[in-house]
Amino acid sequence: MTAKGRRFPLPLSSLASKSSNRAARPGNAELSFETPQTATQNLRRHESHRALVNGKPTLTHNVLAHATPARTPAGADTHKKAMSSTLAAQSPRRAMVDRLSRQGILDPGVLAAMGTVPRHQFIDEGLFGQAYIDASLPIGNEQTISQPYIVARMIEIMRNGKTLNNVLEIGTGCGYQAAVLAQLCKNVYSIERIKLLHELAKKNLRPLRIANLRLHYGDGMCGLPQVAPFDGIILAAAGIQIPDALLQQLAIGGRLIAPVGEKQQVLQLIERTGNADWIKTVMEGCHFVPLRPGTI
Ligand code: SAH
Repeated sequence: MTAKGRRFPLPLSSLASKSSNRAARPGNAELSFETPQTATQNLRRHESHRALVNGKPTLTHNVLAHATPARTPAGADTHKKAMSSTLAAQSPRRAMVDRLSRQGILDPGVLAAMGTVPRHQFIDEGLFGQAYIDASLPIGNEQTISQPYIVARMIEIMRNGKTLNNVLEIGTGCGYQAAVLAQLCKNVYSIERIKLLHELAKKNLRPLRIANLRLHYGDGMCGLPQVAPFDGIILAAAGIQIPDALLQQLAIGGRLIAPVGEKQQVLQLIERTGNADWIKTVMEGCHFVPLRPGTI
């Protein structure tokens, strides 16, 4: 069924559906996938773990500890410290990329971007040792940085092998996914509804000097009409349906990828095929923090 000829507001349930072709992707047959981590479950686990260890989280792989001098004086040593920390993070990051490719990520551009962005720079120092494991991690304000697999998978689906021009991300969080997107798309806009996280993302992204990324503080459910249409829209939080404003701001030929649902969530791909035509494809199960209206 297609939504041809219909105008907004348009319930997503009325959009055309087709099932995921993921099982048919070459080489997937024998792959064993790690189940996507539940962001909220991880969050709870990490918070209780933090509580248990009295604010001193235990590192599973202390990849960066050896790169940090015991006492670093300011000046030249700061640069040296940053350099050695970057070098130390490269090998776990390479291991992460290898794992992503075993998990079924095929797009070489996505793999390269995941290998470039220093994920450890987007999380608390206490969690550095877990920066490249396949898990979501807490970033404060009851939110999480998404697990590497789902970041790579969603971008792979959205971009479909192309360099997209105008891309909108809903849910900047700590800014990690926005930085990955900026490696692959010409212009990236990212919206966050929590002021403190918007500020955190600005702080995290500043040293990376990414010229083609713009952060906005606001309710992403309204999109960003002033710069629409977008060839790609990616939601990092799950709503019970995809906001109409975002469907409207998707360019014809554009692709939107979003987690949808409450307890049971699935990734949905929406392709806009005409002025009043959208096709929905249900992909795989996932777990995200909720999409909420308004700003705080
Ligand atoms: N993109 C992040 C993931 C952040 S978690 C990463 O790189 O890992 C999802 C984020 O979506 C949270 O920070 C949450 O505050 C935000 N969010 C939820 N509803 C939103 C809305 N309506 N508009 C903008 N951001 C929203």
